[in-house]
Amino acid sequence: MSINEARAQLILALRQQGIRDARVLEVMETTPREKFVSPEFADKAWDNQALPIPFGQTISQPFVVGAMTAALGLKGDEKVLEIGTGSGYQTAILSKLCKRVFTIERYRPLLRIAQQKFADMRLHNVVSKCADGGLGWEDQGPFDAIILTCAAPIRPDTLLGQLKPGGVLVAPVGQGSVQELLRYRRREDGIFEEEELMDVRFVPLLPGTSG
Ligand code: SAH
Repeated sequence: MSINEARAQLILALRQQGIRDARVLEVMETTPREKFVSPEFADKAWDNQALPIPFGQTISQPFVVGAMTAALGLKGDEKVLEIGTGSGYQTAILSKLCKRVFTIERYRPLLRIAQQKFADMRLHNVVSKCADGGLGWEDQGPFDAIILTCAAPIRPDTLLGQLKPGGVLVAPVGQGSVQELLRYRRREDGIFEEEELMDVRFVPLLPGTSG
């Protein structure tokens, strides 16, 4: 199967799996996932599956990336915080759907590779740093939307505190190998509404930095 066929099939599958946000589908179709997977998996880049990236991490399954991105409900003028840059694929998708993305990765060698990709792809609205994402990015906040691509063991209160009123945070939450994907919305009165979206499998959010 050619890359074009594989790409068309994937977008069709995402639609069938319930991702209806036209902007999300378009950006997923036009963002070259093959640039973010390890070269030996390039021929699988458009399969609807998670794949290994360097240093024992993974690039998330396209369906999960699409579902989480759609759950943020981005319109284009938002300031978004992402925890867990990893390959940078989710970051690249976000960068085309909002005004500015702040992304944090705890593992420095992985961040360096992702930063090179952001530069190559001229994603000028991405700002990144190596830090413990669990602490958020207070001096750049508050944010319209926050996404965690690693699993918070419990409700991520520090990050929720960096959301604007009306803002949403999407995160896998739980301590086991399967977590619940939750969406929190900060109401204007400061109360958080919580909604369960689906079961997911993410690597855990770890404290501190490495590398
Ligand atoms: N969004 C990524 C998937 C990343 S996998 C992609 O599309 O490729 C999860 C990432 O979260 C890993 O790279 C891991 O190092 C990172 N991570 C785990 N705990 C973290 C923390 N406290 N702060 C920042 N990044 C963290």
